[in-house]
Amino acid sequence: MYTAPFDYRRAHDTQEVVTWLQEDPDNTKIIAGGHSLLPLMKLRLASVARLVDISQVAELQGIREDMGGLRIGAFTRHAQLAKDPAVREAAPLLASAAAVIGDMQVRNRGTIGGSLCHADPAADLPAALLALNAELVIAGPGTERRESLDAFFLAPFITTLAADEVLTAIVVPRMVPGAKSTYLKRPHPASGYPVIGVAAWVSVSGGRVEDCRIALTGIGPVPFRAARSEQVLTGRAFSREAIAEAAREAAGSGTLEDDEDGYKSQLCQVYVSRALGDIAQGAG
Ligand SMILES: Cc1cc2nc3c(=O)[nH]c(=O)nc-3n(C[C@H](O)[C@H](O)[C@H](O)COP(=O)(O)OP(=O)(O)OC[C@H]3O[C@@H](n4cnc5c(N)ncnc54)[C@H](O)[C@@H]3O)c2cc1C
Repeated sequence: MYTAPFDYRRAHDTQEVVTWLQEDPDNTKIIAGGHSLLPLMKLRLASVARLVDISQVAELQGIREDMGGLRIGAFTRHAQLAKDPAVREAAPLLASAAAVIGDMQVRNRGTIGGSLCHADPAADLPAALLALNAELVIAGPGTERRESLDAFFLAPFITTLAADEVLTAIVVPRMVPGAKSTYLKRPHPASGYPVIGVAAWVSVSGGRVEDCRIALTGIGPVPFRAARSEQVLTGRAFSREAIAEAAREAAGSGTLEDDEDGYKSQLCQVYVSRALGDIAQGAG
């Protein structure tokens, strides 16, 4: 399959990206790793008159310390996230999730910004970044705004990003010292995308859960926090009973898709229980 003809431009700074988007927002698209957009164009599911390549925009690249956390350029590839020492130290959950995306070829091309903006309801990184309480830095015509990832995903493949905006960076707070985390994924045997993905971190002090965040992907129209599970755990002894109760509450925290037979609710319970169990046993 071939794409329809399109105009191609390579941007050299963020301002240029915004300017070109602004010229014709409805028919212009940013291309990052191209691993989600190009297949759509080849299948003629997306029609784009102009592509703006952001691979040479230095401002969108690199990982650096930011107010005790990390500022990750939107054009950071999955493979880099998986192996970067600063990410592995400050946000190991993100490195773990990046390491199990697709295969090596996908990880060498795909970017964190592309994954978030594409908003595939079964993508891996959104769950890890929701659990890590990430914030997005978004540039538009004459403005820069920050948005919590909690509010970003509206529906499958739809976010709050306007057609003339570009995601420039993702700010990830450093994980609470002493907290343990895990990313647990059941990959679809054909696509490798998660049938379910659970991202969790738990901080325990004196045997009790001081704080925790749990997020799920793959089972609903958008990734979501398992807020009810977090409530069950917080302040409780991190016991087998508390984990079982938290796991039972996970599915009720969000909207599941196609769950008439209860399979996804069950999957949710089992995978949240396994993820928390791994953390409790120190395997996280
Ligand atoms: C075979 C295969 C297997 C895969 N398996 C998995 C998997 O297991 N788990 C998983 O999570 N993903 C998987 N993916 C998807 C992969 O991670 C993609 O790379 C990712 O979803 C999109 O990133 P990209 O950089 O390729 O974005 P692109 O395809 O370039 O862009 C995707 C969308 O985001 C927009 N965009 C990109 N960057 C920006 C930006 N900075 N600001 C605003 N808009 C932007 C584009 O305009 C486009 O609409 C797979 C892909 C393939 C082809």
